[in-house]
Amino acid sequence: MSVRVPLGMILSRPTKSAPVGPRLLDTFGRVHNNLRISVTDRCNLRCTYCMPEDVTFRPKEELLSFEEIAHFTRIAATLGVNKVRLTGGEPLMRRDLYKLVEMVASIPGIDDVGLTTNGLLLKAQSQQLFDAGLHRLNVSLDTLDAGRFRTLARRDGLVQVLEGLETAKNVGFSPIKVNAVCIRDFSEEDIMPLAHYCRERGFELRFIEYMPIGADAWERDKVFAAQEIIERLEEEFGPLRRDPASDPSSPALDFEYPEGKGRVGFIASVTRPFCGTCNRLRLTAEGKLRNCLFALTETNVRPLLRDQPDDATLKELIRQTVWDKWEGHEFNTAKFVKPLRTMHAIGG
Ligand code: SAM
Repeated sequence: MSVRVPLGMILSRPTKSAPVGPRLLDTFGRVHNNLRISVTDRCNLRCTYCMPEDVTFRPKEELLSFEEIAHFTRIAATLGVNKVRLTGGEPLMRRDLYKLVEMVASIPGIDDVGLTTNGLLLKAQSQQLFDAGLHRLNVSLDTLDAGRFRTLARRDGLVQVLEGLETAKNVGFSPIKVNAVCIRDFSEEDIMPLAHYCRERGFELRFIEYMPIGADAWERDKVFAAQEIIERLEEEFGPLRRDPASDPSSPALDFEYPEGKGRVGFIASVTRPFCGTCNRLRLTAEGKLRNCLFALTETNVRPLLRDQPDDATLKELIRQTVWDKWEGHEFNTAKFVKPLRTMHAIGG
């Protein structure tokens, strides 16, 4: 059974066997407790920075079943994973996703389940998801202008996303974070409308720096740096205060607006990489385990969940995959090699 799948050039470091222990450690001392699970590579949008317009999705039988995902998560939980985020592709396109939420939320040791969605199908599914045990939600929304939404997403959908957000709020989701990718020479005019919209409704806006993981040609000049956005927001709202309660292992730099009126965050992966505190591992929809969003190698765990179930080997592979993690993505250096998969096929 082959388990290592080279995806391109491998930037290698000497690897040793991972030590056996109760926690998922890498050679840089980082402890991994955070699992991102992609439940599908399908999406009902085609965001230019994320995926190509013409895309072939995986056949359904290649995707892990809910039972296989839950099984993997149960094993990961015995190794110290306690946070799970469901993503995709668009996770709400996976039929009956609430059933998976229920399964994952009931796994001993898992105390935090979140979901990242584009919100298009949220109105119809909010209540079911909430009742299943999902309370934390990230909704991706880059603009409040329908025409600009269509330009970025190559599809319509703004009205549905806004309805989804309202419904989720009424159902009781908290926190609701709104993720906005910021691209220079495009996003400038979206910053203030999004900031006002989120602040008025109690949503936490998080600006994400544009990363080289989509199908389009990434250029550093297109990265709209978090610091510049902070300066623009301060011109409009006054000084932002770094949130003293923010989690140091979180990728987001969190701030409070003046007088504590709402929060805003920044995921500055390009200008302030947070690899040094990264605690994440990722499972793709078809069962490949990745130790970094930008990893060039993957570990195929599906055979151990489907063909020859073997929990001891699975644990060993999870440990080893984490142990082999590199120090960080290299997109600020000439060494950077873009993964062959685009974001939608990894799980954002
Ligand atoms: N479909 C869901 C959604 O839209 O939230 C989940 C998957 S999507 C790949 C997850 C997140 O990745 C979204 O917030 C999206 O904006 C972000 N993303 C995709 N491509 C990106 C890029 N090149 N740079 C920064 N963020 C990106």
